[in-house]
Amino acid sequence: MNPGPVVLSQRVREALLGPDLCHREEEFGTLQGRIRAELLAVYTLPDRDYAAVLLTGTGSAALEAMLCSAVPADGRVLILENGVYGERLRRIAEIHGIRHRALRHAWDEPLALQRVSDALRAEPDLCHVAVVHHETTTGRLNDIAGLAAHCAERGVSLLVDAVSSFGAEEINFTDWPLAALAATANKCLHGIPGVAFVVLRRATLHAMQDTPPRSLYLDLRNYLAQQDRGGTPFTQSVQGYYGLAEALAEHREAGGWRRRRGRYWQRMERVREGLTALGISPLLAREQCSAVLNAFHLPPGMDYRTLHDQLKRRGYIIYAGQGALEKRIFRISCMGEITMQTVEGFLEVLQEIL
Ligand SMILES: *Cc1c(COP(=O)(O)O)cnc(C)c1O
Repeated sequence: MNPGPVVLSQRVREALLGPDLCHREEEFGTLQGRIRAELLAVYTLPDRDYAAVLLTGTGSAALEAMLCSAVPADGRVLILENGVYGERLRRIAEIHGIRHRALRHAWDEPLALQRVSDALRAEPDLCHVAVVHHETTTGRLNDIAGLAAHCAERGVSLLVDAVSSFGAEEINFTDWPLAALAATANKCLHGIPGVAFVVLRRATLHAMQDTPPRSLYLDLRNYLAQQDRGGTPFTQSVQGYYGLAEALAEHREAGGWRRRRGRYWQRMERVREGLTALGISPLLAREQCSAVLNAFHLPPGMDYRTLHDQLKRRGYIIYAGQGALEKRIFRISCMGEITMQTVEGFLEVLQEIL
């Protein structure tokens, strides 16, 4: 019940045993092309305007590639922070010398859209806003629709960390001015760790002509040019590709992101209800939460380590809070092949422990 790597389906696990394959062979190009098309199909994007670029690395590699490859040298990005992953976006910008301004919030606070709007108005060289869609630190689903309205008004585009939302939450490519988003195979898509991707508007990279690459490995222009021709610049995780291809087929056959969100919520509603009955309250109101992960206050008089170890002994893995929240909360995710039986079993065991 931790936010990735997720519990795999038998089907994905078996797909990992596919044949050995060289990434310079035609069969690899076919597999890669199929995955790229399926990724666009998750949100029905036309491949004329959009592209999915596949990387071997974790979600953070995709975030780093996105920021390095989408913010021009003469541009500046406004980075919104209300958790660990917003901070990570700022760290990436600092490390690569990407010009930026950070707007910090307390970790349990929603985005202050008025402050964003004021910043965009006061500093017209801000060309992008970078934001985390689902801030996994607290389970908060940030209000990208509200943010998008302020950005669109000022001609500013969005760079989104969708690592823990892609495939299970709404991402509105029509109404949100998205330049790119970064995500991974092993969260809501139920593939294995090691493959990550950036979905971008092709025009995003055209605007980078005068900016030299900031990274050798993470330069998306290089990947895009080669992947459009069926190749790839570096060795890819072939087994990770097998897993992702199967996971995407399963995702589509099961009804796409809406059905996946519905299934996660079915489990999470039960978790919220069951924990509330045991006197454990959620950190955030339901309307502010993702279906993917919710945070809960630690039971009075019990620290995280004790709770975790007792649950682990009985077969359930929960997730700690980060930073200052570690002493206050724990987190539960409903991603992956988790059944309602697992949820019921978890609640029973927790009751015994308490
Ligand atoms: C998990 C996660 C990441 C980082 O993913 P890694 O695969 O561990 O690099 C980034 N952003 C968010 C919102 C996440 O939930």
